[in-house]
Amino acid sequence: MTKAEEAEKKALLAERKAEKELKSLVMALALAIFFNKALADQKAAKIIRTMGDELPEEANPKIIMDAMWGSYNSWLETLVPFVLARALTLRESATGQNLLNKLSPTEKAKLARKFAQFGASSPLVKPTEQLGPSTGTGKKLDSWAATERNVRYYYQQKRLQEELDKGFDLYQISVHTDCSKRCLPDQGKIISKTLPPIDASLWTGKKVDGKKIYSWPAMHARVDKYGWHNFIIDGFNCRHHISPYKGGSPEKPKAKEAAEASEAESAMREAERRLRQLNGEYLGLEKIDKARAEKIRKRWISGFKEYQDFASKHGIDPKGWRTQ
Ligand SMILES: [Zn+2]
Repeated sequence: MTKAEEAEKKALLAERKAEKELKSLVMALALAIFFNKALADQKAAKIIRTMGDELPEEANPKIIMDAMWGSYNSWLETLVPFVLARALTLRESATGQNLLNKLSPTEKAKLARKFAQFGASSPLVKPTEQLGPSTGTGKKLDSWAATERNVRYYYQQKRLQEELDKGFDLYQISVHTDCSKRCLPDQGKIISKTLPPIDASLWTGKKVDGKKIYSWPAMHARVDKYGWHNFIIDGFNCRHHISPYKGGSPEKPKAKEAAEASEAESAMREAERRLRQLNGEYLGLEKIDKARAEKIRKRWISGFKEYQDFASKHGIDPKGWRTQ
């Protein structure tokens, strides 16, 4: 595992742990109805501080801590009054378990839906609180997605800076099979840190070993429709890197192969997201509707099996920790 991958895993696990603890606190508060809110807030603050200590600096703990605190409060606002309203219609001041026993099947089903939805929801980061590159769309980001991008971008920039500080001029862009469509035209190119371009393809007019040398400053200067330098090497989620040119040329995968590998990787991320949501639904339902929770758990198990089969079919390492 690279340093960037380690930092990413550490950060995401710390966030997920805090998220689960906060959610179980909110559910306890919602179901017990007269639970002590001030005490719950103290517990929530402690959970968030612990997460902050566990988060690597690159994940920007301050922003994630704020996002968690905001999510905790919005979860309280949506879940507690929802349960409380049902308790009041029953003129009931009893504990959660009593409340559940007195609900009609329809009411219980409504409550179960709400808890499942709550369990599957993610903590959100406001666009104004995002570190580094924003999506440009102004949409709130899932805190996991924001952290992933921040950590990757941090290491990408650091690595790039290390190369730019070296004395070499000619570099080669790395090549990998699951290359995105965005990076595909540029991967494997030989670039110069200093030469300007002479044409629209950003060729410098020079060649080495019979291969064209492209202009790195011109490639770097490109911007996307949101004004970000979001292309190869500079890209938010780009996993390419540059290394001093030493002759030879890496074998470029064909466009079709790259597209297939890239799609397989995206399908993995999508499956992980779905499994995380299912697991969240399960945790939300556990105390409300055991039978339904059990069904969800079975769906998670078969989904996880599919995920592993898909990974081995495509020769990708499954990341089980991302599915919980
Ligand atoms: Zn890339």
